[in-house]
Amino acid sequence: MLTKEFSRLLGSLDGLSLSQLRRVISRVAELDERREVQDLTDRRIDVLGVCPHCSHHEFARWGRTGAGEQRYHCAGCGKTFTSLTGTPFLRVHDKSKLLENAACMEDFLSVRKAAKRLGVHKNTAFRYRHLMMPLLGKHQPDDLPGVAEADEAFFRRSYKGQKSGMPRKAHKRGTPAGKRAISHEQVAVLTALSRGSRSTFITVLPSVPNAANVGAALGPLLRTDTVLCTDSANAYKTVAKALGVVLRQIPRGSHKLGPYHIQNVNALHKRIKERLRPFCGVATKNLPAYLAWFRFFDRKLNSANPRRFLLDAIGVPSTNTD
Ligand SMILES: [Zn+2]
Repeated sequence: MLTKEFSRLLGSLDGLSLSQLRRVISRVAELDERREVQDLTDRRIDVLGVCPHCSHHEFARWGRTGAGEQRYHCAGCGKTFTSLTGTPFLRVHDKSKLLENAACMEDFLSVRKAAKRLGVHKNTAFRYRHLMMPLLGKHQPDDLPGVAEADEAFFRRSYKGQKSGMPRKAHKRGTPAGKRAISHEQVAVLTALSRGSRSTFITVLPSVPNAANVGAALGPLLRTDTVLCTDSANAYKTVAKALGVVLRQIPRGSHKLGPYHIQNVNALHKRIKERLRPFCGVATKNLPAYLAWFRFFDRKLNSANPRRFLLDAIGVPSTNTD
């Protein structure tokens, strides 16, 4: 817009009634949010550097779509694309809500609360949430150096949202697990972290914890000079022996063994349970995604903010994965 026209636009604001002024403010806020989302999503094309259809390197800007998004044209396949082509976000009607949705996820709002804040139906809020999560699980640490604590947390197996093919009769919500000990009614989540780091490893085990599945999960992360701290479970003895790492097990009923303890990993379990509490039980099929979501914001880094979360969700790799 020309400077002269812009000055005229600003000048015309003086003549507006209060209700008109408020409509302008709300429209400006909406446009601001849409532009910010566009700025962020455009980064995906910079990072990809190729056409999402055919991976050709030569493409050019090609006007804008009806919704105002930047369109590109590929010189290789002749197709056009936008920054979200090839992502599940392409079909989201109002993309201006995506950043606010990421902010709702930073606050771990329930679907109902998020829907209210976003001004959308709760099913839409639920859809937005699930669009955000698939790529988050990639940010696990590559290794656990120094003193590493590991332990399992248990979650009740949940078929929430499943309408057919249930392997058992549906529970009324809030029903406690029938068996207190580890059983197939519960899902085991293995967690580990290096002391002094907020980069946590969290994975859902395929069955009740045993030396095979714990060893397979921890094996790629432990260095030969790592000191592994765990509770007194026998599985860890087998794992440490097989992987050739030093093991320090905290005896049952004790909190520590000399300088060794598993208090950081236990504090992590507490944070996970607290964060997931508003959801009143997460469907087991969705548990890995919810844990990845928790993990993203638990890092307490500058990069763990809604903007970074949205970028991760569209597949722009985080530069700081620690
Ligand atoms: Zn192409």
